[in-house]
This record gives sequence, C-alpha cells and structure tokens, in this order.
Amino acid sequence: MSSTCVSSLPLSVATNPKSTTLALEKCTTLSQVRQLHAHIIKTNLTTHASCVAKLIHALSRSCNPYDAVSVYAHALSCFQLKEIVFCVPSVLRACGRSSAFEEGKQIMGFVVKTQLWCDPFVANSVVRMCLEVGVVELARSVFDKMPVRDLISWNSLLTGYLRAGEIDMAREVFEKMPQRDLVSCNAMIDGYGKHGECELAEEVFKVLSVRDVVTWTSMISAFVLNRRPREGLCLFREMLSEGVQPDAPAIVSVLSAIADLGFVEEGKWIHNYVLTNKIRHQSFSFIGSALINMYAKCGQIENAYHVFRSVSQRGNVGDWNSMISGLSLHGLGHEAIEVFLELERAKLVPDDVTFLGLLSACNHEGLMDEGQFYFETMQLKYKIVPKIQHYGCIIDLLGRAGQLDEALGVIRDMPLEPDVLIWKTILSASMKHNNFVMGRKAALRAIDLAPQDSSCYVLLSNIYAKQGRWDDVTKVRSMMRNRGVRKIPGCSSIFVDGKVHEFLVGKAMDLGHNQNVMFKLEEVVSRLKLEGYEPDLNQVFLDFESDEKESQLVLHSEKVALAFGLLSLPQGLPIHIVKNLRICCDCHTFMQLVSKIYKRRIVVRDQNRFHHFDKGCCSCRNHW
Ligand code: ZN
Ligand code: ZN
Repeated sequence: MSSTCVSSLPLSVATNPKSTTLALEKCTTLSQVRQLHAHIIKTNLTTHASCVAKLIHALSRSCNPYDAVSVYAHALSCFQLKEIVFCVPSVLRACGRSSAFEEGKQIMGFVVKTQLWCDPFVANSVVRMCLEVGVVELARSVFDKMPVRDLISWNSLLTGYLRAGEIDMAREVFEKMPQRDLVSCNAMIDGYGKHGECELAEEVFKVLSVRDVVTWTSMISAFVLNRRPREGLCLFREMLSEGVQPDAPAIVSVLSAIADLGFVEEGKWIHNYVLTNKIRHQSFSFIGSALINMYAKCGQIENAYHVFRSVSQRGNVGDWNSMISGLSLHGLGHEAIEVFLELERAKLVPDDVTFLGLLSACNHEGLMDEGQFYFETMQLKYKIVPKIQHYGCIIDLLGRAGQLDEALGVIRDMPLEPDVLIWKTILSASMKHNNFVMGRKAALRAIDLAPQDSSCYVLLSNIYAKQGRWDDVTKVRSMMRNRGVRKIPGCSSIFVDGKVHEFLVGKAMDLGHNQNVMFKLEEVVSRLKLEGYEPDLNQVFLDFESDEKESQLVLHSEKVALAFGLLSLPQGLPIHIVKNLRICCDCHTFMQLVSKIYKRRIVVRDQNRFHHFDKGCCSCRNHW
C-alpha cells in the first residue's frame, strides 16, 4: 500500500456509508479500491447496500473485475434483491471482462425473468457480456428477443460481430440499423478495412457528412492495409486540409504508407509535424517504431538510427525490432547483431519479431555461422518456438550458400508444412546454383500451393529457357493463360522535384517523358558497352530473337527510371529508385557500371531489400 494512496484517500473521513461511497467514486487505481474494500469489511459497512453497490461498480472497472462478481455473490446472502438490483449492469460487465460465463448466465436468467429485461440499459449489458465472453450466437438471440432496443444495443452487436471477425453478420446488422451514428460508421469502416473490403469502407466514408478523427484514421489505415498507400497518403493530406488534427494511429498509418512508397520528403515532413505538434506526448511509443521503419525503408538508415538513439532508452522492444529489421533491409548484418547484443546488455527480452529481423539480417549478409547460432539461441535461451518465417531465413541462408541438401534437410525435419515461400526460396537457390532438377521440383510445388502467383511460372519457364527447352516454355505460358494468371508488370518510381515519376516495364516509349529519356538511356547503354557491358539475355522471359530480347531488357523499368534520374538530378545527388519486384541480374550489373562510369550513387529498393551502388560495387555484394 503506497503512501500516495493513503494521502489521496482520506480513510478517516470514510467512516459512514455516504463518505465511503464518495471515497469509492474517487478511486482511480485498484490498490485504492482494495484499500477501501478492506476498510468496508473492517468497519462493517458491508451492511449498507449503497456502499456495496459502489464497491461492485468500482471493482468491475478495475484490472481484477472478478472481485466484483465475488462481492456480488456475497451481497446476495446479506441483502434483499431489490436493494442491490441496480448493481446488475456492473456485475454483468465484470462477468464479461473476467470471462465468467457461468456466473453471467445465472444473472442473465434472473434479468430475463424480471422486469429488468425491459430496461435497455440492463438488456444491453447482457448482450455485451455474451459478446465479451465470445458467445456471439447467444448475444444475437438475446438481442433478437429484447423488448426495447436502442442505438447502443445495435452498436454493441455490431462491434461484437466485428471483433469476432464476422464481417458478413456485421454488415447485415449495419444495414438493418434503424438509425446510425458516427460510432457505428467508424466501426464499419475499420472492420471493412481489416477484412480486405476497402471499396465498401470507402462507400461508408463517402456518404458521411460529418467525420471525426477516428473516421479519417480508419479510412487511411484501410487504404494502407489493402496496399493502396498512395490513396492513404492523399487522404491524410485531405484530412489536414480540412483542419482535423491527426492522432497517433493516423500518424502511424501514414508513416507506413510513406515507407511503402519510399517518399522520404513526406516522411521528414511528418516527423517534423510530430515534433512541433507535440503528438509524441500522447503516444510516442508506436510513432517511434513507425519513424524508424519509415526512414529505413526510404533508404535513410542514418536517420533511422538517429530516431532509434533518441527512443532506445525507453526500453520498448518494438523500437529495437524496427531498427534491427531496418539494418537487415540494408544488408547490414553485423550492425544488426551489434544492436541485438546491446539489447541483451540492456536486459530487454527479445521476441519472435526481433529474431526474424536478426535472422534475415544474417541472411542478407550471408552470415551462415551467426545465423545458425541465433536460430539456436532463440530456441534454447529464449524458448521461442520458430515460426515458418524463421525456418525460411535458415533455409534461404543454406540455399544461397549452395547447401541445397542441408536446406532440404531443414524442411524435412521442421514440424511445420512448407509454404509457398519456402519452395520459392528453394527455387531461387536452385536457379542460382544451376540445379535445374531441384528448381523444377520446387517450382511445381510452389505452383501447386499458389496457382495464381505469376512469379513461380516465370521462374519455371526461365529454367526451361536456360536449358533451351522452348516447347516447355510455351507449355508454361499456355498454362498461365488457361489459369488466368497475370504477370505483375515491373514498375519503378523515382522522386524528382517533389514529384513522383513512375515507369512501367516496356512502356517507356509511350510516356509523356519525351524522347530525351530514351536518348539518354541509349547513350548510357552504348557507353556501358564500350566498358564491356553485355546484356544478360537469360533474364528475358519471352523467347524472342536475340535483338528483340535486348530491347526488352533495356526497357526494364529501373533502367528507364535511372536514365530519367541521370537527366534530371544534379551530379552530386544520389538517385533513389523504388522497384515493385526483385531487381534482375542484368539491371544489377547495369546499376553497378553506371555508378562507376557516371560517378553517381544509386540506391534501389526492390521487393526484398536495398541495394546501394557506389564506385561499381553494390552493398549487397551480389548476394540477394
Ligand atoms: Zn532488370
Ligand atoms: Zn545489390
């Protein structure tokens, strides 16, 4: 019992029922309630119904809500029912919060038999109790039998369905509601967003004439969750221009959109906004991790580190996890290990996310011994059961190093079924080491598991192409056609003069970016050829004639974006490119040569990681 509790609760005053009831109302912590609970028993105030009712009310909101149920059970033996009947909603709340379904059901039986049932406030408490303990069907039947329903009844059922992930039932309730308020609309936007129904969320958002910060935040995160970061960012700007001040969840969502897009200037603006608008005081804990993540994904690992240093002493493992994954993205395996060791020295406890970052960092830098060591540490020292992604890192690490048999051994011994990503890992390792037999097997397994994923077909057809088996290439292509599988077109974007410029593979000619970009690209290609560059025609999926293959390769979107960057950015500035797919070998060599011959720093973020090209070398040391 701390002295501050005693001083804020003058027990000496609480000698009669009235003052005790008042003191209970002022309680803000469980220890204060406990203190008064003991006091009530000691001074025999338990004979006063009003004191007991207040106590139940206070306890039902505490972090040990079951105490309220116990006090109520005790009160039943001392009082007449009518004296404590107004405790019922509080006890029901306590039953819901402490998952005491049996006790809750008894009270429910009592409610249904008495006229309490006609009081919407009590009836709503019954519905909410059922929803909180997870018996959604019972909640529905109680709801259907309710003699009087108000907006709160409808909203309780709606949020209950949403929490249980029953989106169709929630939708039905939402559409049947006789009247709606902002709370139900916000809940619905949020629910649709989380269930991949972004268009439905938009429908609700658009018809609203009044929107609060929760409405905007729910819609922004719906866009971000459904891989529509650009629209998320636009909506965030719109929210600001309407004069709505964003809350911490809105900031976290928009930072995640910016990270996906790689628009660092926007990210810096938000960072500054957070600092000047003092949003950090509300809830900086999530914002810190989101900022680290954003800077790392936008290629500014120094800035990520700077934010990390300013928040790391808070001891929030999430910040450390963001930093470790950020370093991994940049292939900085040793630095990631350094941060991890620092985390251990700070006596923080790593979780499965920490190890995922750490293992992928070891993987991106090809640190075989370290990777295996931390895979063991995670299980033996920290008792964390590896998930499929952790196995994926180890399998990838072995596969890239050419130890395909060992990698297959891990798959055989692991207690989980290999998923499509595991087979794709084996597939790309087989490609790298020219093991076409294994590659073909892995490709077929991957296609079985994910028949709509174009990348597996592309790799399988590349295997056949490498062996000159053009008939099989044709077969794969017709299989794709028959199944309606579409290849995701390569797309690269580059940020110049505050604007994003996008380039789609093979489409550069039609762009309004005028002929200059194409002239520049031709000039770069011929200059590189003088330095010994030979296009790697193996990278071309289609079985074109050699000349045509070459022109296809030149039009890979990152090359066109690079030419545009060389034209429009002054010499000293690095060129930042974001690519939606993995960079191909030919483009990789191309970037290396340009960084040397044109003396430019080039940063490419592909689907998997960052490549920092400088003086003819890449930070990934050709390991990706
Ligand atoms: Zn390429
Ligand atoms: Zn690279």
